[in-house]
Amino acid sequence: MSVVAHETVETDVLVLGAGGAGLRGAIAAAEGGARVLVVCKSLLGKAHTVMAEGGVAAAMHNVAYQDSWEVHFADTMKGGKLINDWRMAELHAKESPDRVLELERWGAIFDRTWQGRIHQRPFGAHTYPRLAHIGDRTGLELVRTLQDRAVHTAGVDVHMETTVFKLLTEGGRVVGALAYRRSDGSLLMYRCGALVLASGGAGKMYRVTSNSWESTGDGTALAYEVGAQLRDMEMVQFHPTGMVWPAGVRGILVTEGVRGEGGVLRNKEGERFMERYDHERMELSSRDVVARAINSEVNAGRGTPHGGVFLDITHRKPEFIKSKLPSMYEQFLKLAKVDITKEPMEVAPTLHYMMAGVRVEPETGATNVAGLYAAGELASGLHGANRLGGNSLSDLLVFGKRAGEAAAADALRNAKQAKARVDPAQVDAAIAGLMAPLARPGGENPFKLHGELQDLMSTYAPIVRDEPTLEAGLEKLKELQSRALTCGAGGSATRAFNPGWHTAHDLQSMLVNAEALLRSAMARKESRGAHARSDFPKTDDELGRVNFVVERTADGMRVTAHPIPPMPEHLADALHRSYATFTPEEIE
Ligand code: FAD
Repeated sequence: MSVVAHETVETDVLVLGAGGAGLRGAIAAAEGGARVLVVCKSLLGKAHTVMAEGGVAAAMHNVAYQDSWEVHFADTMKGGKLINDWRMAELHAKESPDRVLELERWGAIFDRTWQGRIHQRPFGAHTYPRLAHIGDRTGLELVRTLQDRAVHTAGVDVHMETTVFKLLTEGGRVVGALAYRRSDGSLLMYRCGALVLASGGAGKMYRVTSNSWESTGDGTALAYEVGAQLRDMEMVQFHPTGMVWPAGVRGILVTEGVRGEGGVLRNKEGERFMERYDHERMELSSRDVVARAINSEVNAGRGTPHGGVFLDITHRKPEFIKSKLPSMYEQFLKLAKVDITKEPMEVAPTLHYMMAGVRVEPETGATNVAGLYAAGELASGLHGANRLGGNSLSDLLVFGKRAGEAAAADALRNAKQAKARVDPAQVDAAIAGLMAPLARPGGENPFKLHGELQDLMSTYAPIVRDEPTLEAGLEKLKELQSRALTCGAGGSATRAFNPGWHTAHDLQSMLVNAEALLRSAMARKESRGAHARSDFPKTDDELGRVNFVVERTADGMRVTAHPIPPMPEHLADALHRSYATFTPEEIE
């Protein structure tokens, strides 16, 4: 089959993704004087970010006057078990209040304190109430506000329902991308001076997940293919509370806001079991601790009939629950026929978030590949071994803005790159790879392969891992990778809205993410944050000084340990001042 790109579109900055990071990046790049084109798989306003519930973390000290950027910094580092990029954690803690106030100026309507300030709710492992929120629909308001701002900023254009499948390089620099329109399969060639990846996480490689269909790790794989380094790929977060019943809704998130508003966890014996795992912070311990605690309770036979535990907020007044947690109230009533003002919820861990991702330079979001920037969930560093709730939305705002600004400056400096010659062989090979499944009517079924990958990851890279299981998982993954090379399009050869064809492509991205996860998990022979190893149950001080970095080589994927630079004195001081609040679990 011979196919050529139907259309070539030129811009200064190409932004891949219309979630919080992509939209904030696009606004910043346009304000920096660049022409900006945002490309996204779904409709504008539908990106995964709309699902965010609990809030955006920022030390605005509206509710707790003692809060400060230093405490937010220390909480983030402690949560990440100290392998975070400390400069990112510093920038994030210092700049997130301004980013939230800016959202308010742009029209976001936050919940209020009685004095009229933006209200902030408590969340797991945040020392003070810190999450600015709009009930439990914060992501929706964030995207609505950013979208409104973006479409009213001169120079921003959007291509919806368009999937990027290849980054184009010339002389080691990213100069564009290839994409297909999901509606009719027509091809586009984008040419740009700089490209910002903001395509979100890869949760769909797991069976039980809170993530949307878009989270297939495309950006991470695209970056890896052109030589970008990935970091902390072993670090994926299981959120402690996903729905467990009915089976069809398993994995849908139950916001940490429920625990923030006073919800308690009990096992089937009625015991408030967090007492045994973190008696100080109880239900508001960090997510890794609570998820492992629930896992242990279920494995010890103290779980509910559907394999979870109970989350109970019935001690709060019904009006309070309905006003603070309206989505949770409706979600349980509609999907599980449970009235959470009267009955407890059944919950269990669900794969939620990638701390893992593309390695970026803190100030600018630049990757190690010229012309390529990354921000949001797909970038790594800020959260280290475990993300605190609310720190993602502030991450998107702080680092989306920084990446957009830097990409605009780079693109304007390198405007001629958008016109540089691109090797046609590179384009032809990518298009041939994309089209191949359509020409294999008897090829492997992509939906079946996706299901097998989800089962593989759930079985061989679960909450608690060990060497033999990870090794066996990698062997099985290699088999899946070779079967995916003969993947068909699920029985239909049309290029118009063909979900089988789309899945065949998404599968390739998820396989890269899965391999990087398994290999990095084998390399980190210790337990730290979200990465728990039953064969290495303790933290190892030496490994606390490194990040594992994944790179593409001629011999395949390589994982190496990279030392973390020493923390400057002012940050070490901020951290040590808060050491009094370390729990025994964190010190270990
Ligand atoms: P996303 O919002 O995932 O957007 C990715 C964009 O990239 C989309 O537009 C998509 O179409 C596009 N894209 C992907 N691949 C391609 C491709 N190949 N070609 C073109 N476009 C592509 N965090 C908090 O801080 N607070 C919360 O309260 C909170 N609640 C959450 C609740 C739920 C249910 C979930 C699932 C997550 C929650 N999170 C929360 C996490 C947070 O929402 C996400 O980490 C964050 O929204 C990710 O934003 P992003 O901009 O990086 O990417």
